[in-house]
Amino acid sequence: MKIEELLVNETNIELFLLGNEAIARGALEAGVMAATTYPGTPSSEVGDVLSGISRKAGMYFEFSTNEKVAFEVAYASAISGLRSFVFMKHVGLNVASDPFMSSAYTGIKAGLVVMTADDPSMFSSQNEQDNRHYGELAHVPVVEPSNPQEAKDFLIKAFEISELERIPVLFRTTTRVSHMREAVKLGPVKKELFASFFEPDSGRYMTLPSSAYGNKEKLIEKMKRLSPVSDKSDMNRIERYGTGEIGFITSGAAYNSLMDVINMRKLDATVLKLGFTYPFPENLVADFMKQHSKIIIVEELDPILEARTRMVAQIKKIDSEIYGKLDGYFSMSHEYSPDTVEKSLSEILGFNITQHYANVMIEEPAPRPPVLCPGCPHRATFYAVKRAVRMLNLKNVIYSSDIGCYSLGTYEPFNEGDLIISMGSSIGAASGFASATSQPIIAFIGDSTFFHAGIPALINAVHNGEKMLIVVMDNRTTAMTGRQPNPGMPVKASGELATEISIEKIARAIGVEHISNVDPYDLASTLQGITAGLKYHGVSIVIAKRECAILRDQKMRKEKKWITYNVDQEKCGKCMNCVENFSCPAISLQDGGIVINPNLCDGCGVCAQVYVCPFRAIEVANNAK
Ligand code: SF4
Ligand code: SF4
Repeated sequence: MKIEELLVNETNIELFLLGNEAIARGALEAGVMAATTYPGTPSSEVGDVLSGISRKAGMYFEFSTNEKVAFEVAYASAISGLRSFVFMKHVGLNVASDPFMSSAYTGIKAGLVVMTADDPSMFSSQNEQDNRHYGELAHVPVVEPSNPQEAKDFLIKAFEISELERIPVLFRTTTRVSHMREAVKLGPVKKELFASFFEPDSGRYMTLPSSAYGNKEKLIEKMKRLSPVSDKSDMNRIERYGTGEIGFITSGAAYNSLMDVINMRKLDATVLKLGFTYPFPENLVADFMKQHSKIIIVEELDPILEARTRMVAQIKKIDSEIYGKLDGYFSMSHEYSPDTVEKSLSEILGFNITQHYANVMIEEPAPRPPVLCPGCPHRATFYAVKRAVRMLNLKNVIYSSDIGCYSLGTYEPFNEGDLIISMGSSIGAASGFASATSQPIIAFIGDSTFFHAGIPALINAVHNGEKMLIVVMDNRTTAMTGRQPNPGMPVKASGELATEISIEKIARAIGVEHISNVDPYDLASTLQGITAGLKYHGVSIVIAKRECAILRDQKMRKEKKWITYNVDQEKCGKCMNCVENFSCPAISLQDGGIVINPNLCDGCGVCAQVYVCPFRAIEVANNAK
């Protein structure tokens, strides 16, 4: 599907959409005028779609420097009267949490919806925190869709709730909902133009202690008023199957797994399917419990619905049996499948499991270790760092890594990753290691991550006079999430020209005096820069700048300049350095000879340099075209 199809303004058609595409369409139907994000899986496709269609839709869209900035831009738009949408992955909300928490106190003017895309099972994340907690923590409403149709429709309803009480709404998806595909029925695109004008409103938006005191009371009142709205919301519905004897309470992606089991086993069930989960629909849940002697709560990650259900039962003195995670029947970890749900239900309801749902699912492909792409400039940089460390005979080097493709440097044969804790943490942690130990320290950070959260840590390192080498892996994009632009590039999310921010100028302005700019494809200069940086007593930076191999491939193919390399078997000394220490996936040992797979070779030419092949046996292939 071409993303422009999402702009269609017809209501009687269905499009086969990914959850995140449906959310982008929902933003159009909700009349969103400003959308912001920092890309992060599993939310990234929303940004990819909106960056492609926002200009035609008349919507402002940006890939912001980080999630906090994204939130602040969207918040200012919302208090200026524009419906605004900010979205991020779950850990991104930790970054944005400071203004997010206070925005609940000030409230907003036009609707503001904050999407958190959680990642149960951690398919592309460092943890699986359940961000529904942020709803209760900040006292903001939480909406949880279960599929792409609901994702689109509930987003529109989330804006309505937001404007009902002038409060931000947390819109929580998970990987399974964001990445599921189904036919989605479209609604009308909202064309209403909102007036944008900021009025100070007697200091309402000044979060000073004097105003915050009263705002807390107002916030609690807002949430109290939303409680009956949650009770009556059509996002919370009851479904009945068979005699409906067993009562289930569920939400989000767990609903889909539960429904597979109910349908396969033909269970007599009544399902209270919650989509507006905070404020908790207490009266609805209480009435539901009174009609069922057995209540089973099926939700992924933390027992949030369960804890609230048990509280309602205790306060309203309802004696239904309640089963969930707190009594050990369901797991608190990882996403659920029909198999995991059925296993828990078999223990509660006492039936035998005879068939596994996984038996009828597509077989998983054989696992392969994650590797850097052929032609990836990061491979050359890691290789040069390893050689420089060996040449200088450095011992006990600490490699402080960060979040991005270059985290793959952790694996064989480079082993250049000892710590990754959060976005931009490589430099901050390097400062800690520098003050705590006398070991050599090398921090790796990508260009997008440098802008995201590396700059304050660099200021800290320079200010405190630490000694470390920082290698900025500048591949001219935000590669890991789909190659979105970042402030180091002369282009905006919309494709318009932008001001390119220089990493070197920032570093010099902060006070870094020792900076080398190198091209990782030129191993001689890269080695020289890294060696000099490692010898320097203070903060030194090597900016290893070379565009991501995928971007280079696209350009080379367009310009028909594609070349590949091969090995001259007569010159090859079988030293194995190219296979064992450089480890490009295109190079392998086959039938006793080193071969380069022309279908994988990217033509970067790094392996042909003497630092990789001392016999100069690797050369441009004759069949180059
Ligand atoms: S030129 Fe060498 S290093 Fe580059 S992609 Fe081809 S085989 Fe790999
Ligand atoms: S590095 Fe060169 S000489 Fe050594 S095995 Fe590879 S191709 Fe042969």
